[in-house]
Amino acid sequence: MSPSNPRDGSADSGSPVPFIDLVAQYGTIRNEVREAVDRCFETQTFILGDEVVQLEHEIAAYCDSAFAIGCASGTDALILALLAAGVKPGDEVITSPFTFFASAGAIHRVGAIPVLVDIDPVSFNIDPACVEKAITSRTAAIMPVHIFGQCAEMEPLWRMAGAYDIPIIEDSAQAIGAEYRGRRTGVLGTIGCFSFFPTKNLGGAGDGGIMTTDNPEIAARLKRLRVHGDTGGYNHVEVGFNSRLDALQAAVLRVKLRHLDKWTDGRARNAERYENLIQANGLDDVIQLPQTLPGRRHVFNQFTTRITGGRRAEVMKSLKEQQIGCAVYYPIPLHLQKCFAYLGYKQGDLPEAERAAEEVLSLPIYTELPAVHLERVVQGLCKALDRPYTLPFPASAPAVQRKAA
Ligand SMILES: *Cc1c(COP(=O)(O)O)cnc(C)c1O
Repeated sequence: MSPSNPRDGSADSGSPVPFIDLVAQYGTIRNEVREAVDRCFETQTFILGDEVVQLEHEIAAYCDSAFAIGCASGTDALILALLAAGVKPGDEVITSPFTFFASAGAIHRVGAIPVLVDIDPVSFNIDPACVEKAITSRTAAIMPVHIFGQCAEMEPLWRMAGAYDIPIIEDSAQAIGAEYRGRRTGVLGTIGCFSFFPTKNLGGAGDGGIMTTDNPEIAARLKRLRVHGDTGGYNHVEVGFNSRLDALQAAVLRVKLRHLDKWTDGRARNAERYENLIQANGLDDVIQLPQTLPGRRHVFNQFTTRITGGRRAEVMKSLKEQQIGCAVYYPIPLHLQKCFAYLGYKQGDLPEAERAAEEVLSLPIYTELPAVHLERVVQGLCKALDRPYTLPFPASAPAVQRKAA
């Protein structure tokens, strides 16, 4: 076998690499999207209606749930789900501190108390052992967040949900299509909550969300909660919200759903290329790669590494100078957010979440990222860490094979 081939400077060292490029994705579906948008304008149906009903059927089929109910955002999906699961003011809901704000924000918004427990350092997901320790007589729900596109460890949560009779609400905002033991998110708990925020794997042309469930009573409740608690004909059995999904969003999302699995495969392919290149360049002593746990399908909403040894700031500064996009999700764990000071947590309470917040760095992972740009990211990481850059051929070959060379 030939030795690895030094090609320093060959990986398209000129052009900037954006962290995300939605324009590139739109270029591949422009005609389909325009057709779908035109259809909405021709019918002048803009709120709920047939497009939303069709999307709901298609998402239910995609997740293998009995029902799907569209709403105005992923945040609203969580709020409506908490209410439909029977969470009341003063109740406790256990979730992760290492997530987008909305997970705990939704719990606060329904008057419940976010109980934040530490995470597993490998998957960044909630640690089931910590969940169990936090269960009290006031625990009204457990909300695992499938962070970055990989499912939380569900089996122990299912056991707790059964033993203590507590519903599970999945925050699947980053994980549409992710699988746990062959089952997709959305059916791994009582209610699944999804976001169509434009940067999610299935992103709309604005805000949107959807909730999935197999329970017909919960589905009916979610459906009325999104329209002021109206069961039809202006019969308001409870006070709900205005949280409807727009027909335009549904029409665009139906187009994109047809491409989702192909796009997800593209993200996974990019993840593999990063792994190969980072390992081949011997950067994995500093850069810890994301791990896909057994029995999972990771959909890589983010490709989140850890920069160890206290070197993250230095790496970020260098990538910025080289015009290579990267991002920190999340710099402040939720237990240390000012608005949650009333919960009484302090620095040091959730050490793994705090360490993750100090070390994580997400790299560009979108499907349309050209291979030369991906190489440029790794080249940029080499430069940041003052290591020589080597591009092994072919870049997509398994790392172990090249290591033997
Ligand atoms: C994006 C996101 C949400 C909120 O979704 P919106 O549609 O932006 O309201 C909730 N939880 C997580 C983990 C998210 O990433």
